[in-house]
Amino acid sequence: MYLNVKGVKKFYGQGEGRIMVLKGIECIIEKGEICVLLGPSGSGKSTLLNLIGGIEDIDEGSIFVDQQDLGVMSSKELGQYRRKTLGFIFQSYHLVPHLTVKENIESGAYLSSSPIDIHDLLLKLGLEEHKNKYPNQLSGGQQQRTAIGRALAKNPSLLLCDEPTGALDYYTSKDILELLERLHQDYGTTILIVTHNDAIAKMAHRIMYLKDGQIVNIQMNPQPMAVKDIEW
Ligand code: ADP
Ligand code: MG
Repeated sequence: MYLNVKGVKKFYGQGEGRIMVLKGIECIIEKGEICVLLGPSGSGKSTLLNLIGGIEDIDEGSIFVDQQDLGVMSSKELGQYRRKTLGFIFQSYHLVPHLTVKENIESGAYLSSSPIDIHDLLLKLGLEEHKNKYPNQLSGGQQQRTAIGRALAKNPSLLLCDEPTGALDYYTSKDILELLERLHQDYGTTILIVTHNDAIAKMAHRIMYLKDGQIVNIQMNPQPMAVKDIEW
């Protein structure tokens, strides 16, 4: 999944109170890359992710996903893009409370044309022994692993992660990042991780810095570090 963001602007509010939150974003992400988007709180990271994820409308500019322009997709095409192409992981896990771990993960494969083998995924996620538990019976790390499983069950070409370790302690965070690293190796998924933790950037091929609605720096890293070797 190749991503091309061209001159994207986003405004919030009306009239006098209208503010520009994204001020003409230009960036690309190559297929198969791990890209980290860094920036202080309020810089517009989640807004950009939501635009790429088709959750919010672009006000100016365009976002191309492979050859497709998100801004001109019909609602049916946008729905397909969100259900089939895209995996989305949030800081707060948004699990369905009355579904078990296995059922939450299976729900992610709904309407997918090429779902991942759920049993295999449960093993990779370290959730096989917890598959029949409900979200309120899980630790934070297990809940996030379930949310990752749900995003991956459809075998997405593009995985968007908004502060995926934001609510987790150091060791659990490393666990989750190692999992993303392994899934990237196994499935070749293009991954975009939003974070304000610069240590996480060491695992990325491409690091973009967002400040006050603008990309102020892009760094390429031909040899990303293994997550286990990163210290923070
Ligand atoms: P980040 O994820 O980097 O912390 P956000 O993208 O969440 O930043 O927010 C960027 C700016 O846009 C902030 O000033 C925030 O207050 C504002 N903002 C975000 N969402 C909305 C919204 N739905 N309505 C109005 N302002 C918003
Ligand atoms: Mg945010």
